[in-house]
Amino acid sequence: MERDQNVGKMKIFSCPTCQADTPHIIRGQKGETLALLCSNCSTGSLVQSDELCLYQLHWEEELRQILGTLEHGVDDDKYPD
Ligand SMILES: [Zn+2]
Repeated sequence: MERDQNVGKMKIFSCPTCQADTPHIIRGQKGETLALLCSNCSTGSLVQSDELCLYQLHWEEELRQILGTLEHGVDDDKYPD
């Protein structure tokens, strides 16, 4: 089975204690519910797997935009506007 495939992986999630997007380690999974542990303050959070997946997509998109901003002018030939 693939139910434990996420356990031990690091995901970015919004920590209710840190009030920031911090790396969270997936410590366990029960059905569609994941138990996350903030690597910054060790606060546990429960999140639905699809919600976390959406969050990753949102985060990666934001990260791409930030990196794109930083690299602006370096490789802008990839994005001909
Ligand atoms: Zn935290």
